[in-house]
Amino acid sequence: MVRTKVLTPLEIYKVLDKTNCKRCMLPSCLAFAAAVIGGQKSLDDCPTLAEDLKEQLAGNLCKRSTADPEQSEFMAKLFKKITRVDFHEKAGEIGAEYINGQLHVVSLGKTFQVDSDGGMRSECHIIPWVQAPLLSYICYPTHRQVTGRWSSFRELNGGIEWQGLFSSRCETPLKRLADAKPDLLADIVDLFMGEEVEGFDADIALVLYPFPHLPILICYQAADGDLDSELTIFFDECCGTNLHIKSIYTLVAGLIKMFENIARNH
Ligand code: SF4
Repeated sequence: MVRTKVLTPLEIYKVLDKTNCKRCMLPSCLAFAAAVIGGQKSLDDCPTLAEDLKEQLAGNLCKRSTADPEQSEFMAKLFKKITRVDFHEKAGEIGAEYINGQLHVVSLGKTFQVDSDGGMRSECHIIPWVQAPLLSYICYPTHRQVTGRWSSFRELNGGIEWQGLFSSRCETPLKRLADAKPDLLADIVDLFMGEEVEGFDADIALVLYPFPHLPILICYQAADGDLDSELTIFFDECCGTNLHIKSIYTLVAGLIKMFENIARNH
């Protein structure tokens, strides 16, 4: 099976000249390596890096559509934090497996293998919106087991502040998709190892696991006469303890974008 590997700053640093010559306009080779991972610099910006090495590295770089300095800084902090995580201890806590020094975390039915320096491999293409929340999930200081009780997004820690964006980028587009392609939600269950559940006031209620201890519940009610359709995404009460609200938003917004891409070919 082909696995995609995402590089870490350290892996890029290893192949650089390490002369800190500053010709890339950054103070050091390490700063350059972090900037490449963050999308602010390209490998071509180091004039001493050999072409064959550039080609080898480029294939494993996770491309970002924007060079967002805030996101790059956030990623650099995560790469630093993850080196201090005790993977053996963390595995049980977050519902992952510890195998040969790596954490194996199942996201939507696909296994991601995470190295102690934050490098990642998966049987599927690694997408940036999974990478940052997954590293955050591993590094997050608090953790709680799945409760089986559901909260709205606004009830999660910090949810009120992000509610507007969450509604417009997550719930509204997913409702639009479900209205236009009624079979899509059932297909999502199959594609992403979700489960249909009963006992909710909805035509379709399905649970997905973006991370083991981060279940989400999607409830959809089709339009009926004058009544418009409704779609709400709920979160297990543990979610607010297991991941920062911004990462939860990033994760779900990325998920909805992926569903939109799937729907285009549906
Ligand atoms: S140009 Fe290359 S060798 Fe010089 S500091 Fe930047 S990364 Fe290092």
